[in-house]
Amino acid sequence: MSDTPICSAKGCRADAVWVLAWNNPKIHTPERRKTWLACEEHREHLSQFLGVRGFLKDVVLLTEWEEASSAADG
Ligand SMILES: [Zn+2]
Repeated sequence: MSDTPICSAKGCRADAVWVLAWNNPKIHTPERRKTWLACEEHREHLSQFLGVRGFLKDVVLLTEWEEASSAADG
């Protein structure tokens, strides 16, 4: 068992490096953020998938995302 987050792309077992924050305005309130994780290889593919639907809000490094969320907790 590992705590290392894994890329959300189908069939990919690579370590995640990026966090894609997204929101579907049809089902989520505007401030809600869903997240997908992506390795270097799949960041662009997953960003495009969300981007063409108008869902993509933010792409940040996983390390920065974790820092931001732990800062918010404190
Ligand atoms: Zn991947």
